[in-house]
Amino acid sequence: MRDLLGETGGPVRVAGRELPREELLARASAVAAEIAGAGAVAVHATASAETVVAVVGGLMAGVPVVPLPPDSGPDERAHILDDSGAALLLAARGADVGDGGPPRVPVDDLPASASGAETAAEPVPDATALILYTSGTTGAPKGVMVSRAAIGAALDSLAEAWAWTPDDVLVHGLPLFHVHGLVLGVLGPLRVGSPLVHTGRPRPEAYAAAAGEDGGSLFFGVPTVWSRMAADPASAEAMRGARLLVSGSAPLPVPAFERLEALTGHRPVERYGMTETLITLSARADGERRPGYVGLPLPGIGTRLAAENGDPVPHDGETPGQLHVRAEHPFKGYLNRPEATAKSFTPDGWFRTGDIATIGPDGWHRIVGRASTDLIKSGGYRIGAGEVENALLAHPAVREAAVAGTPHDDLGEQVTAYVVADGVTGRQLIDFVADRLSVHKRPRVVHLVGSLPRNAMGKVVKTRLPELAP
Ligand code: ATP
Ligand code: MG
Repeated sequence: MRDLLGETGGPVRVAGRELPREELLARASAVAAEIAGAGAVAVHATASAETVVAVVGGLMAGVPVVPLPPDSGPDERAHILDDSGAALLLAARGADVGDGGPPRVPVDDLPASASGAETAAEPVPDATALILYTSGTTGAPKGVMVSRAAIGAALDSLAEAWAWTPDDVLVHGLPLFHVHGLVLGVLGPLRVGSPLVHTGRPRPEAYAAAAGEDGGSLFFGVPTVWSRMAADPASAEAMRGARLLVSGSAPLPVPAFERLEALTGHRPVERYGMTETLITLSARADGERRPGYVGLPLPGIGTRLAAENGDPVPHDGETPGQLHVRAEHPFKGYLNRPEATAKSFTPDGWFRTGDIATIGPDGWHRIVGRASTDLIKSGGYRIGAGEVENALLAHPAVREAAVAGTPHDDLGEQVTAYVVADGVTGRQLIDFVADRLSVHKRPRVVHLVGSLPRNAMGKVVKTRLPELAP
């Protein structure tokens, strides 16, 4: 575990329950002793201290850990358990883990410590530490094998970029089964040595309380959290004493960035990554932060843009292309999917992110959207959904907006918007964006809806938008 954890560190508090670091490590070593040699182990990953103990125990034992979304339906759960071949399921005593599945180990019934559990052998850098399932935004979640070395390298880069030290108190309330909440949000503070306050759920009021009472300095959130905070002046005001607000996992709308700055006095730091590559791009604590941009490559990361036919796309800050990434610790592959793994690499070994981006001559990256859902081909134009979404979100009555292409006889696809708004008509919104968008980018259809379909990371599941149309 020396390859992943720092020498010293602060306590971990999850949903009100505080574990001093020594207690956490002692309990984790008891988990490690229990599961040693088990093959992969699943963790029923509720927002709880038991989840942290179980994951750290798995990493101590050198056994691949498979965090299981606790609210996933029986099908998704069965798929992950089956696909990963998990031999055991670690869960808090009394947790509802559903029927079937591998034998269950109640984490809180294990002894408070065990000695000699950590394998004497040096951990293997390329060994799979975690099998993380992707967020399922564009299709069924895929199991990604994440190596120990990749985690260590990514966390060290982020600590440097964000000036993250043991003096920080990290605060977030993100799910503990994806990169953001678990790798950055739990393994990050354990490696850097800063205390962690996990608020159970990512609510603006809880972040505000942690900024005051707990001395929270570094805050992680997905854009929905920051958008909510931007609409909650009392909570936002309480963030003035924080050091750094970090946004990632999905695009932070420019209007939310601007309102957040006006209310908190902080320009958020945006970063970009994927389960497959971990975090590859970020703004820096000591540098510029640009609304609508995800920053610069982290150390050891190379990026380039390619056209659909694979030709290079110029880094002129304007021409979009598919983002390719190269890293010192490359993506190890999707579990049980050798073909999908092979397809995700170019012949010369770059990883295809599936995201469309621009890269400026100054190295700044802008994510335009996903190749599969966010590039609308209408009347011979290629339109990025994000630009249209930002234009709609600039209207004060608009709370949420998602834009996608829908089939159209003449145009191929037409720009269609799904908007959550109060007291405004679709016609008014189309007129409003007319000032901001050229004719071909303006939505031809606006559906006013009650809410947008989002997954556990707050990402809009665009494949489900057509269900909202009347
Ligand atoms: P699936 O692969 O199952 O469809 P997913 O791609 O959402 O789901 P993740 O690996 O959790 O699963 O998320 C990675 C994706 O999140 C990236 O490919 C990108 O589209 C998006 N993303 C992450 N950070 C940002 C950001 N700062 N701005 C815009 N998009 C982001
Ligand atoms: Mg993905």
